[in-house]
Amino acid sequence: MPITQLPSQLVNQIAAGEVVERPASVLKELLENSLDAGATRVEVDVEQGGIKLCRVRDNGVGIPSAELSLALSRHATSKIASLDDLERVASLGFRGEALPSIASVSRLTLISRERGNDAAWSMNSVGNDNKPDEQPVPAAGQEGTSVEVRDLFYNTPARRRFLRTERTEYSHLDRVARQIALSRFSVAFRLNHNGKAVLNLAAAATQEHQEQRIAAICGKEFMQHALYIEHGAGDMQLRGWIARPTFSRSQPDLQHFFLNGRAVRDRVIVSAVRQAYRDVLFSGRHPAYVLYLEMDPALVDVNAHPTKHEVRFRDSRPVYDFIRRSVESAVAGTHPKPGQDASQFTVPALLNTPGELAAEQSSLRFSLGATTAPAGQRIADQLGVYSQLPGQTAQELAADVSDAEIPPLGFAIAHLQGIYILARNSEGLVIVDAHAAHERVTYEALKNSYSADSAEGMQRQPLLIPLRMVLSSVEVDLTETHAAELLQLGFVLDRSGPDSLTVREIPVLLRDADIEVLLRDVLSDIQATGDSDRLESAVMDLLATMACHGSVRANRVLTLDEMNALLRQMEQTQRADQCNHGRPTWTQLSMQDLDRLFQRGR
Ligand code: ADP
Ligand code: MG
Repeated sequence: MPITQLPSQLVNQIAAGEVVERPASVLKELLENSLDAGATRVEVDVEQGGIKLCRVRDNGVGIPSAELSLALSRHATSKIASLDDLERVASLGFRGEALPSIASVSRLTLISRERGNDAAWSMNSVGNDNKPDEQPVPAAGQEGTSVEVRDLFYNTPARRRFLRTERTEYSHLDRVARQIALSRFSVAFRLNHNGKAVLNLAAAATQEHQEQRIAAICGKEFMQHALYIEHGAGDMQLRGWIARPTFSRSQPDLQHFFLNGRAVRDRVIVSAVRQAYRDVLFSGRHPAYVLYLEMDPALVDVNAHPTKHEVRFRDSRPVYDFIRRSVESAVAGTHPKPGQDASQFTVPALLNTPGELAAEQSSLRFSLGATTAPAGQRIADQLGVYSQLPGQTAQELAADVSDAEIPPLGFAIAHLQGIYILARNSEGLVIVDAHAAHERVTYEALKNSYSADSAEGMQRQPLLIPLRMVLSSVEVDLTETHAAELLQLGFVLDRSGPDSLTVREIPVLLRDADIEVLLRDVLSDIQATGDSDRLESAVMDLLATMACHGSVRANRVLTLDEMNALLRQMEQTQRADQCNHGRPTWTQLSMQDLDRLFQRGR
């Protein structure tokens, strides 16, 4: 075949192959256009899963009648005019491809009335010839724009065959609509399917209304377990809702992240959040969140993929660190405070002084060098979780203090079956899983001691027989450029050839780990992200194992003083709400709960 220029119809259909996969992608493009047009109200009508009809009406700025035909032409956009604009683009669209692509595979009608103008104009573009009408014709319509897309893929049988059942197509479309509705609280949304209202969301200005919208979209359960976070650093702002670890999921299906108002699914972001939850989730469980990050658009490249789901950060490290730290501190902040904050309470005899805590931690540091499972018990002992309280007994104290002075987790009453601690606080009954709680307290203490140590680097131990490893030369180069960090983490490595390495010293804490596997993973992390969290996670995993072995076993009956000491430790420990596996460590039954249980009216 000789080389020929493709007809524009075919060019558009090829482009449609990228951006118009199914009715849901049509809806996404149309909704994004409405948001870009500054709409505050958007109404969607869908028939037969969007295959028969997908119509979006908005009250945005509208399109001047003279530009209607341009809107349907390829590479025509009002959103950017230069490379400079592209590099700091803040709108959702900018490629000028969506409308002509959709029009080339459907029957499309565009009706628009420019804001402040009293007439609406309409234009058709029917796939087969894909030449917009020469001139717009007068139409009836409110201020804003209506785009109606009928009979998707009617002229491209191969694409049509890929469409699934109406129900499946609808479910994709529904997901897109909900995601866009999550992305802009300030916009009211309605979605009707086959004439029935499916979503009807008012604009949500206050946090309370926003939480209602999230509950309507992500479910009440999520909202009940959600923590609100809001954090800023430099010119990055993160806000949103993250689920407590007790509401983890078996699939990563409740993870919504919006970057400057655009839904993105990015590796850097996903792994930053995952790392933040690392301590409190079982492996294989996934956190749930709805998060909004605002940052300078010039630092993000959204032109990395036609559907713009993927983004590229100019420098991903600060973004990663910022998200991880923000989420981590919110997860860590979940220590016990039924009603009140632990810091308000002054029951000095029961609380450890900072000096005592420091003493515990330094004794812990000495013992880390020779840690095996039984030694875990020693560490727990040294933590003083069950140290005897000075003088007075807890009961005497409990009798003396008024309700306001009772600490958040209260005073112990009994140890049930050697498993649950029952305690009385100002609200009613507290029930604690002693083992889970102790494990968490021990683990956090171990971690503190690890980070206290890391000023001098992890404690190292030489290998009697140095380990030789064969790697790629790129990986061996990495060990040289990152030698300082690797040393900090406890590794002493020598290059022994262009593609081989000798491991001379390793972290004491990891001496039982498979060093070769760990090091390979660490290097591939460094290669992929410029850094590695894997080693730190490996250390944390090890600390968790030690904490578990060192924690009080079920069926050992604790004395009241021991129980009270544990309760006080929990109040001071970050993340004491969940054990290391994300299960709750304690729960509260208030007097109202008990009254309800016994159907006692007050
Ligand atoms: P892009 O969004 O990448 O610019 P589109 O093909 O989606 O490309 O739209 C082309 C142009 O049509 C937009 O740049 C915009 O000017 C106009 N347009 C499309 N939809 C709307 C709408 N709902 N309201 C106002 N203008 C619109
Ligand atoms: Mg667009």
